[in-house]
Amino acid sequence: MLVDTHAHLYAKQFDEDRQLMLDRAVSVGIEKIFLPNIDTQSIAGMYELVELRPDLCYPMMGLHPCSVKENYEQELDTIEAHLRSGNQDGERRFCAVGECGLDYHWDLTFKSQQIKALRRQIEWAKDLDLPIVLHCRESMDDVIREIQKAQDGSLKGIFHCFSGTQKHVEQVIELGFLMGLGGVLTFKKSGVDELVKNVALKHLVLETDAPYLAPTPYRGKRNETAYMVKVAERLAEVKGITVAEVAEATTKNALDLFRIDVV
Ligand SMILES: [Zn+2]
Repeated sequence: MLVDTHAHLYAKQFDEDRQLMLDRAVSVGIEKIFLPNIDTQSIAGMYELVELRPDLCYPMMGLHPCSVKENYEQELDTIEAHLRSGNQDGERRFCAVGECGLDYHWDLTFKSQQIKALRRQIEWAKDLDLPIVLHCRESMDDVIREIQKAQDGSLKGIFHCFSGTQKHVEQVIELGFLMGLGGVLTFKKSGVDELVKNVALKHLVLETDAPYLAPTPYRGKRNETAYMVKVAERLAEVKGITVAEVAEATTKNALDLFRIDVV
């Protein structure tokens, strides 16, 4: 059994074959898929998908840093309303806050707003006792600093699409967070293989970030959850263990973090 901890399967790239794509994922052993939200535009599609396959797809709620623009406070207000109404009176519709974080790759115009948005979402995670799923792009040091400042022992989560330095690995472990590994692990010269070779399995989860970042040999094509098997195989190879061991550990880590009971 495998778990995809990060997939945007409500994206329009899957409009033509969404059901078949989900069936392919199930047929290779993927039993749970966690859906990070992007912004207010992605919410309806995400809900539709969860309704279609409630046993398979679990939603998160948050604002992606690339969607932090002039109107980010309004976006956050709407997203917070969804989050709070889904997770009240013992209900737990959303399994995490996310995805959120800092992205300095494309545009620095809203850098200070991105930081404010991240801080507000960290507060939601604390307040609602939810894990947080973090997106970092050329911003690892800043995201780590924000989590360090906020960490009171209650924060948990995933640095999704993890890459960075040895120091970052140590800081993430020190913070009690997990590293999400996807297609990048299979790319030649990504360096992520060397980085995670000696990291204990208990700190790792698997993901696709579908439709993006397809693993080798699908690199450059649309990614989908079934392809995550390639990531599991590569991690097994890097660590010199079996795919079954990778699957067992990463699945347990993910289900514990998101608090999903499997009967
Ligand atoms: Zn994502």
